[in-house]
Amino acid sequence: MTEFQLDIHTHTIASGHAYGTIREMAAAAAERGLALLGMSEHGPGMPGTCDPFYFLNLSAIPRRLSGVEIVHGCEANVCNGMGGFQLPQRCVDRLDYIIAGVHLPWYQDEGAEKNTDNVIACMKHEKVFFVSHPDSDRAPLQYERLVEAAKEYHVALEVNNSSLLHPERRPGCVKNYKEMLALCGRRRAPVIVSSDAHDPSAVGGFEAARALLDGIGFDEELILNTDVEKFKRFIGL
Ligand SMILES: [Zn+2]
Ligand SMILES: [Zn+2]
Repeated sequence: MTEFQLDIHTHTIASGHAYGTIREMAAAAAERGLALLGMSEHGPGMPGTCDPFYFLNLSAIPRRLSGVEIVHGCEANVCNGMGGFQLPQRCVDRLDYIIAGVHLPWYQDEGAEKNTDNVIACMKHEKVFFVSHPDSDRAPLQYERLVEAAKEYHVALEVNNSSLLHPERRPGCVKNYKEMLALCGRRRAPVIVSSDAHDPSAVGGFEAARALLDGIGFDEELILNTDVEKFKRFIGL
């Protein structure tokens, strides 16, 4: 299998419960041979995360650190009641991409049908290119509808390495990913593999996700991590 070149779902100290600086994360990415790194701090609604103003000033960061290209993201909270995601538009405008993610207990499980409606409401947004960890039985999803919507709204569903390393936090994740990936393969829907690193030691950690993808013979063409240009084309960068 081709080496993965990028990791676009990671968190720094700015997220409030992660432990590396941007420079430590970039150095770790370089050490692991990545060409591109995205920091995606948590959006409003997560305790201890940065103020929205943080996202307005991202242009202060060099676009290359430790030889690694830096892209600017945010992991915004999916809201209940088809409320979209939480992040002011002025922040959205400064970002390269948004990842929409369900975060319990700040999201209340509404059952599979409504949870899926809530995620799809976020997918419709032009800057939402990814859905993080769509994998837990604690907030179940209807995968057929989710994959259809991902195709329709040009969104890549994530395979989250951290979920697979800690399945006790996201019960059912292996079975749910198998169902989701079978549908993605059939519908030719691209996916993104992420470390969801909250510490430099986890940047570029894809082993558990790769083992799952290899195990089911998932088509590499559909994995956005295999080529920086393929990723950039996907988000229109
Ligand atoms: Zn998350
Ligand atoms: Zn995250």
